[in-house]
Amino acid sequence: MVEAVPGAAELEMRDALRRLRADGVQRLGERVRALEAGWTALQPRRLAWDAAARVEVAELAASAHRLAGAGGTFGFPALSAAAAPLELILLGLRDEHSPNAAHIRQATLLIGAVAAAWEAGPDGRDSAPGTAAAQNRAEAAEPVFLFAEPRDRAMLSAVIANLGYAVTRLPDGAAGAAETPPRIAAAVVDDALPGALELCRQLADRAPLVLLAGESGFAARLQAARAGVEAVVPKPLDVNELADWLDHFAGSRAEAAPSILVVDDDALLAEAYALALRQAGMQVTAISDPGQAIAAIAAATPDLVLMDMQMPDIDGIELARVIRQTRRNLSLPILFLSAEQDPQKQMLARRLGGDDFIPKPVDLDRLVDLVRLRAERARALRAVMETDSLTGLLNHARFKERLGLELERAQRHGMALSLVLLDIDHFKAVNDTHGHLVGDRVIRGLSRSLQKRLRRTDVIGRYGGEEFAVLLLNTAPDAAAEIIDGIRERFAETPFETAGGHFFSRFSAGVAGIDAGPSAPTSGEALISAADAALYASKRAGRNQVTLAPDTAAP
Ligand code: GH3
Ligand code: MG
Ligand code: MG
Repeated sequence: MVEAVPGAAELEMRDALRRLRADGVQRLGERVRALEAGWTALQPRRLAWDAAARVEVAELAASAHRLAGAGGTFGFPALSAAAAPLELILLGLRDEHSPNAAHIRQATLLIGAVAAAWEAGPDGRDSAPGTAAAQNRAEAAEPVFLFAEPRDRAMLSAVIANLGYAVTRLPDGAAGAAETPPRIAAAVVDDALPGALELCRQLADRAPLVLLAGESGFAARLQAARAGVEAVVPKPLDVNELADWLDHFAGSRAEAAPSILVVDDDALLAEAYALALRQAGMQVTAISDPGQAIAAIAAATPDLVLMDMQMPDIDGIELARVIRQTRRNLSLPILFLSAEQDPQKQMLARRLGGDDFIPKPVDLDRLVDLVRLRAERARALRAVMETDSLTGLLNHARFKERLGLELERAQRHGMALSLVLLDIDHFKAVNDTHGHLVGDRVIRGLSRSLQKRLRRTDVIGRYGGEEFAVLLLNTAPDAAAEIIDGIRERFAETPFETAGGHFFSRFSAGVAGIDAGPSAPTSGEALISAADAALYASKRAGRNQVTLAPDTAAP
């Protein structure tokens, strides 16, 4: 394989990027020092927490915000992980009339953590999905502001908290609204609150607004829209509808960044591309060993692979072929970076799985544009193909594929794994009595309970009409049965509102799987039929229960 000789332009780019990185790291260090110094200088003023002190703490919050953004870009993910909560605590202190001692302590600890992360030096990893920092961020409950009459607050808070959001309450009315800090998923306003629409008007440019509306006719909706309300949820409250909106607003903020895998045997170049893409807001994993590409794709599930075509041990075309040997990767776009000028060779590469070429040396702005465009299109397409449209869960085919993969992985490493099949009880009766739309709401309700109560790493699929399948990784069948039984209990207690009152829905489940340690080889099909038989046993025994498959049941 011929290694392309870097031309003058490429050398120049490398140099520019090296400087870019060095400058960035240096600036990062200066900001960390300034943050520490600013915080130390504030300490004597805790007893005279005046307007000037609060302006200073707001400046420190802004600087924590910048650090949180830049840390990941320059190889300091731990720094970002500490700076993000620090910003929130500093914003809280800004709004306190006398500083809360616990908040001061937390801020001091976090500033210590930021400084320590800086001292520890860059760790060479990035903040791609799968790293601890990214995971923690994803797990953290998103704050939602609630404005309601005192008598309704407890109930609404409980509803919102149950949906997995952190309820934050502000002082009543407009005075509170003026101090809203920036980062919230949504504000929920009950129209029973006097001056509700006026409040909406003030909040409109700070957060997406959900109005709980007693009056939801056209005129009322128009008025709400004019006050900047984006979502109207009629009362009596359909919890699913509120949940949909909150998920929508929280999700639309989280899903922005496309995920990219960069493969270039030249580590510096790989890093340079990664840096440019990250600075444009993308999540990037960069590897310089093509042998790691398959593992990296499995770990980071990128939306696109950006790959050097000329690498010493394996050429990009061969690697593209290997990647495409996995069905799941058939539609994964691969973008080649290539010094190849020969159009016929380019055509060959395209036929063998490359989707497009970016000639080397590359113009970074163009690179960023091309990559973003293709990654977004690929992501939208994949979401449509792989997920069920009613629930957003994995569809049947994708679920079975994951089952095969996870089972193989679990057996290789001697880890436990459980498969659960769930089926809603007497679902025909729900459709017959309340109509298909209400039936759909129940299906989404169960889908949501599963999503909220299981871990993010567990795999959930819509297996059939009112049947679901769940894979609990690293979980033995008896433990899985207990977890599912807890979900069953809570689901059975969740009322579904209809015009004529409310009703309850229940489900039955069957669990099969393998325990930790060496296990006899088994197949996905075998697990499915064992779980199915256990599900059938639950149904026969009277429904609304969870059964463990016999071979996995305790003796
Ligand atoms: P059980 O499982 O307890 O034995 O009784 P069941 O009434 O749930 O039985 P069955 O599985 O035979 O019926 C499932 C029904 O679910 C049949 C079908 O009309 C309905 N269904 C399937 N998919 C959907 C859907 O997407 N939306 C709605 N509303 N209904 C669906
Ligand atoms: Mg069924
Ligand atoms: Mg059923």
